[in-house]
Amino acid sequence: MNVDYDILIVGGGMVGASLGAALAGSGRRVGILEARPYGTPGQPSYDDRSTALALGSRHLLDRLGVWPALSAEAAPITHIHVSDRGHFGVAHIDAAEQGVRALGYVVPNRALGAALLPVLEQAAGVELIAPAEVADIEQDDDGVVVRLAGGVPFERLRARLVVAADGTGSPIREQVGIPVETRAYGQSALIANVSVTRLQAGVAYERFTDEGPLAMLPMGGDRYSLVWTHREADLPATLALGDAEFLAALQQRFGWRLGRLKAVGRRASYPLGLTRALETSYGRVVLVGNALHTLHPVAGQGFNLALRDVEALARALEGIDDPGEPAVLAQYRRLREGDMRTVVSLTDAMVRLFSGLSPLPGALRSLGLVAADCLPDLNRLLARQHMGLYGAIAPTRPPAFAEFRA
Ligand SMILES: Cc1cc2nc3c(=O)[nH]c(=O)nc-3n(C[C@H](O)[C@H](O)[C@H](O)COP(=O)(O)OP(=O)(O)OC[C@H]3O[C@@H](n4cnc5c(N)ncnc54)[C@H](O)[C@@H]3O)c2cc1C
Repeated sequence: MNVDYDILIVGGGMVGASLGAALAGSGRRVGILEARPYGTPGQPSYDDRSTALALGSRHLLDRLGVWPALSAEAAPITHIHVSDRGHFGVAHIDAAEQGVRALGYVVPNRALGAALLPVLEQAAGVELIAPAEVADIEQDDDGVVVRLAGGVPFERLRARLVVAADGTGSPIREQVGIPVETRAYGQSALIANVSVTRLQAGVAYERFTDEGPLAMLPMGGDRYSLVWTHREADLPATLALGDAEFLAALQQRFGWRLGRLKAVGRRASYPLGLTRALETSYGRVVLVGNALHTLHPVAGQGFNLALRDVEALARALEGIDDPGEPAVLAQYRRLREGDMRTVVSLTDAMVRLFSGLSPLPGALRSLGLVAADCLPDLNRLLARQHMGLYGAIAPTRPPAFAEFRA
């Protein structure tokens, strides 16, 4: 049986689902194909991680109707503290100094999934098809035929535009032959929730160490979300530690700013690298999210950057009859090029500079942190980058004024 769509989104993870929400009510028939059933263990997007949402992302999720269900789970970041272990120099970014109530928010990925799902279920013109794994696609001049691996009552779908939101390894990107640039950092991120004895409400910590960066993101109360970068060879030993030994090792690496680290939850790990597609689209297939750019989580930019892909694609599609028309995809590329280049280069530079992958001496790194703290223009620039305000598409509806008050 054949079913026709205007747009088929392959991958209903954090980015594909957000795009579905952005296209709700657009007058188009949109399908989201997701290989894994929602709410089950093993769903790769809505897992044990937490995500630091930039302020700009919070505004977009608000416009998509996702924020009301998410806000109860979102912990504000009011202050970012950046330090370099073993070297002098600390940088601060402060919400009040930037004239905002929060620089961003920390949300558990599962809560994001739980907030997105009901929005999609109510979204006019959007169908969520899961579990449904795409086996392959075939393009012609007018559309794309998408074949499913099975498990649903139809096997062939046809769309005028296919959006690949299928993650870092993107089988769709591979199939259409869009080349990628990759960089292996030889690092993995270990994540876990940690509770502490000294509460510093709203303060996020980014600590650079010779082994790689370590972040502690406030989740509210005494809970912090840990992202601890390891050299790949060192990871198995840390994963194998008992809780007490693990907390002692973390305490030694992080220090005592949050008092004693008293408990740790389930640990998981993710290999880290940079993957950047060299084209944003091919024919009637366009890339978003990790399929387009996968970053090191050092600056918490991956999903924030991806939400700006979502916004740009939705904007490029406005008022156009054929969503796969070359003009739409050229407009999308124009809207995304600069922001993507900046964020990818900045993130890559940070990883290399602060992970012992660059020849720059520690003293120079320290000077960089001092400059970031003392030079108001540089501090403001960093703050705006963190808040995701560069590269954002101007909203059709401005955010509530109250959000911009200290
Ligand atoms: C440790 C860590 C911490 C992070 N922290 C932050 C942060 O603080 N802030 C931030 O902005 N970003 C952060 N990120 C980045 C963020 O997690 C990613 O940007 C985001 O997960 C990308 O989502 P995605 O939907 O593009 O891809 P994915 O999450 O990989 O989702 C892809 C989806 O496609 C589905 N799929 C794949 N193939 C098929 C197929 N053939 N058919 C159907 N479905 C398919 C998969 O099942 C999956 O659900 C972090 C990343 C890591 C690893």
